[in-house]
Amino acid sequence: MTTDRRETLRERLDARAVPRDELARPGEREGEVRCVACARRCRIPEGRRGGCLVRFNRGGRLMVPWGWVAGGLALDPIEKKPFYHVLPGSGALSFGMLGCDMHCPYCQNWLTSQALRDPEAGARIVDTTPETIRELAVRHGARSVISTYNEPLISAEWAVDVFREAGTAGLLTGFVSNGNATPEVLDFLRPHMDLFKVDLKTFREEGYRKLGARLADVLAGIEGIFARGFWLEVVTLVVPGFNDDPAELADIASFLAGLSPDIPWHVTAFHPDYRMDDRGPTPVSTLLRAVEIGREAGLRYVYPGNVAGLPELEATRCPSCGEVVVERHGWSIGAVRLREGACPACGTPIAGVWEDGRVPASRAGKP
Ligand code: SF4
Repeated sequence: MTTDRRETLRERLDARAVPRDELARPGEREGEVRCVACARRCRIPEGRRGGCLVRFNRGGRLMVPWGWVAGGLALDPIEKKPFYHVLPGSGALSFGMLGCDMHCPYCQNWLTSQALRDPEAGARIVDTTPETIRELAVRHGARSVISTYNEPLISAEWAVDVFREAGTAGLLTGFVSNGNATPEVLDFLRPHMDLFKVDLKTFREEGYRKLGARLADVLAGIEGIFARGFWLEVVTLVVPGFNDDPAELADIASFLAGLSPDIPWHVTAFHPDYRMDDRGPTPVSTLLRAVEIGREAGLRYVYPGNVAGLPELEATRCPSCGEVVVERHGWSIGAVRLREGACPACGTPIAGVWEDGRVPASRAGKP
């Protein structure tokens, strides 16, 4: 996309932006507004944009995206998000917008996430409404509505309006997010949202600096998500030479196990993408080691992803007796043998959001 076309895209998005105050706070200077939708907490002077380039200040009001999706809507298997412990085999109506507060050089969704930064990126935008999204989800038999493809925190107001509508049809709602969240945005989302998949990309400060964020902010975001009772699954894309050091993977696993051993951890294979084409894909042996590391840290559910031929490890097993309770081959589901959210062989509860609506063990006792 040329610079001119990018300007046109911005103009088209700005024409659809609406003023919203839920995640806006007064700035320190006249006309300035502070956005609290993500941990960057941008101070935005009149007429300027925040770090995501999507939200901006017009006349002292925070303007946010509303009423459109990028690239259309898709009915995906929920395993593709990936949520492995949520209604296995169900459909997730998936939508996204444009932009991100981070700029990962290996982003797999860079055409949408970097559309406002990168002249090569961009996607068609389609006007829609929360009611249309709810109707489509119901008509196609989806059980959930998920904001994904770009960073949903930067369009939290739109998501809440979509999720409020989806909730009237009994649909689950969720984010596929980088987790760079503030307490304010989590409190805003929680009444309308059930599920959070978070990418914990590295456990090193210098790693997050390269991506445009701070480790402490993301860890605080994950802690806040868990504390508020969202169903949480975490993904770490294992990138050779970036975060594949066993000590770093052990730090990630220990952090998650310290929150709850019931948090599913997906360790997925990197394939060269976007601006990171200077290294090969993640070796299977590295992923297998990451699975071991997760288990050694005490995590009960650790899954390799983005690799074929490991069905034994893709299945969900009872952490007590080893019985396979959910058979899985990539995004396809085989038998689901749970009985009232528990292992049919020994009765151990399996944390997750299952057909019988059971409260997951990792959420029990949480607000
Ligand atoms: S969403 Fe984040 S990056 Fe965008 S304006 Fe708000 S605080 Fe800044």
